Amino acid sequence: MIVVLERNCSLKNKAAVVRLIERQGGRPLVTEIGEETHIGLIGGDALALTVDLAEMPGVAEIRATAPPYPQVSREHHPEPSEIRIGDLRIGGDEVVVMAGPCSVESKDQLSAVGAAVARAGARMLRGGAFKPRSSPYSFQGLGEEGLVLLAQAREETGLPVITEVVAPEDVGLVGRYADVLQIGARNMQNFRLLSEVGAQPRPVLLKRGIASTIEELLLAAEYVVAAGNPRVVLCERGIRTFETATRNTLDVSAVPVLKLRTHLPVIVDPSHAAGERSLVPYLARAAVAAGADGVIVEVHNDPDSALSDGKQSLTLEGFASMMNELRRVAAAVDRHVSPPNEPVTDERAQRSPGRS
Ligand code: PEP
Ligand code: MN
Repeated sequence: MIVVLERNCSLKNKAAVVRLIERQGGRPLVTEIGEETHIGLIGGDALALTVDLAEMPGVAEIRATAPPYPQVSREHHPEPSEIRIGDLRIGGDEVVVMAGPCSVESKDQLSAVGAAVARAGARMLRGGAFKPRSSPYSFQGLGEEGLVLLAQAREETGLPVITEVVAPEDVGLVGRYADVLQIGARNMQNFRLLSEVGAQPRPVLLKRGIASTIEELLLAAEYVVAAGNPRVVLCERGIRTFETATRNTLDVSAVPVLKLRTHLPVIVDPSHAAGERSLVPYLARAAVAAGADGVIVEVHNDPDSALSDGKQSLTLEGFASMMNELRRVAAAVDRHVSPPNEPVTDERAQRSPGRS
């Protein structure tokens, strides 16, 4: 429920509305939208309050149709949110590309992939250290050793790093190394984990569950925001359908649907949707055309020997060529993808000003 105040509502009347909501056990969420003041209700008895509030001076309208995820909804926050990570902004004009291996496997592997994706224009380095695998016998990740390698790769490449956290008790540990914490599809409704990442300061990438509706994704995001962390990015990564030609079915329509319902940035993972490297650039192009604020893709220097998800991992060359395609699609929808970076050669480094 959202209470819209009259434009000339006095401070005294506004305070009375807030007090009434609090007295009834609700939490008021006050937002100024243009010249209007909206007060969202979280918790409390909406039905009883509607009756009381309708009679209060200064109340213009009560909208009963507010979604059950008030803090992430567009109704409450009409402007899109931008999530800042250093000088990077997710949710602005740039389509932010995040890339890296499914799993961190070794220093050499991460350095090779990190250098190549940074050169091709990636803006964030991904890599799993704690891997949620379907089989207990599959590679489970390097754990803290993988986090250390990610932090080293951040130094080498200058790229912020994103990695998955799978357990509430690991949130502090992962947050000490990573710039962004990823909640994987299998944990989208692990509510204790959501509250835990909501109670710490790092931005969160929340992936859609394998069989979750868009409303469930938004409610999961609300858990994180309700626990105190508003820096959430949503990720469509394919859902399970009757179709078996791809690993999952990329729900491209989730992008505009989410963008209409929430102010949070929305990105797409075409790798886990496709399950097959040759399809990944097509799905990535569709995501950018549909209005995604970014894409996250798996890339490996030797995909055939990858310890996880090699089949869907782009080669280094394949990633660079996909980036060129995405630049053209982004330009067609008035956005941009970061240009490739020239490697810093010894000669250029010596010539650059400020170096001794
Ligand atoms: C991943 O990003 O490596 C991953 C496991 O993704 P998802 O949770 O979407 O399956
Ligand atoms: Mn993977």
